[in-house]
Amino acid sequence: MAAGKTQWGGALDAIDAAASSLQLLSLDIHDHPEENFEEVHAHASLTSWLSRNGWNVTPEAYGLNTAFEARRHSELPDVPTLAVLCEYDALPGIGHACGHNLIAVSGLAAGIGVAAELEARGIAANIRVLGTPAEEGGGGKIKMIDAGAFTDIGAAMMLHPSPVDVLRPNVLAIDTCFVEFRGRNAHAAAAPWEGSNALDALVLAYQAVGLLRQQSKPDVRIHAKVHHGGDKPNIIPDRAVLEFYVRGRNDATVDDMAQRLEACCRGAAEATGCTVSVTWQEGERYSDMANNDPLAMTFGERWRDLGVSAPDLEQRSTAGFGSTDMGNVSHVVPSIHPLYAIPATSGNHTPDFTAAAASDQSHAATFVAAKAMAQAGLDWLTDADLRQRAQDHFDAVHGD
Ligand SMILES: [Zn+2]
Ligand SMILES: [Zn+2]
Repeated sequence: MAAGKTQWGGALDAIDAAASSLQLLSLDIHDHPEENFEEVHAHASLTSWLSRNGWNVTPEAYGLNTAFEARRHSELPDVPTLAVLCEYDALPGIGHACGHNLIAVSGLAAGIGVAAELEARGIAANIRVLGTPAEEGGGGKIKMIDAGAFTDIGAAMMLHPSPVDVLRPNVLAIDTCFVEFRGRNAHAAAAPWEGSNALDALVLAYQAVGLLRQQSKPDVRIHAKVHHGGDKPNIIPDRAVLEFYVRGRNDATVDDMAQRLEACCRGAAEATGCTVSVTWQEGERYSDMANNDPLAMTFGERWRDLGVSAPDLEQRSTAGFGSTDMGNVSHVVPSIHPLYAIPATSGNHTPDFTAAAASDQSHAATFVAAKAMAQAGLDWLTDADLRQRAQDHFDAVHGD
């Protein structure tokens, strides 16, 4: 039923009418978890649902097998165009522990809500639903930006489930690298002095990075996984490999930490008589999120009107939330990425969150947030003053 406070009751009604079919779609995606760039089942289900519901769908869009773009048949030139984004990739072993099945249908719900109003009222504006794969690694949105998916988009919005409601999440920039140390094999008992121990180099580098944390800014996060540390204790390892994630407040902080991390690795190699190579993942840098304040405020007000006790609009989240390739989108067009609470007893990327992402209450919360996003989107599409304020905020953040 449409809430009394809004002029966009048609959007709310359209979302209500689609909710049960969207919940089935979400549960089906939840039952078929697929990792980065392998979201074949989700891609097929989402594009087929959109086609059946009046969208002109481009599957395998922008050169990516599991990306899609959906437009309305009557798209107009030279009018404001809003994109709402879907994610649908899962995590290894624990399935939809980030709730991207919910994000997928939140984008569809918001899209049909906006389309219903545009078409009923003959509003000169466009709405697109973008299917963006590989958020959990691989950077699908980065590849879509590079392929031109956002060139004629004026603003972008998406939602993300979480244990808490946050209008403007604190999203860190992240880069990842593989560090490989090469040494020299030797018999570990008979002639250890003939070897150069690549595992020792790895351990020293890991310790040096641990000490580096003392001189790092509070928002810096560095974490590692060892991929290879030798083959057998009685062979001095000639090869050791670890992977680092380096996160910080923005790209400049990550650049600075990346140089200091490389210095730690070079020092460790020097100390152990090994060599080192550091390989950064080309084209996969996730940027920080430049939350667009005017759009976030508009979303927050619409959310509150729907009965959600949205967090204080003036309050910026100080909790770290990790990283997302929506950050990269936020540096291309004015963007928001609000977090909405679902009833989970632990955070994202845990089995409990996987279970929570399938509950009725989580779907209900998703559709409420999608209604707020549809209305905020309609506000932006129809209010030239809001569009200007959003653009001014974007320009100010980017120093134009
Ligand atoms: Zn996620
Ligand atoms: Zn995640």
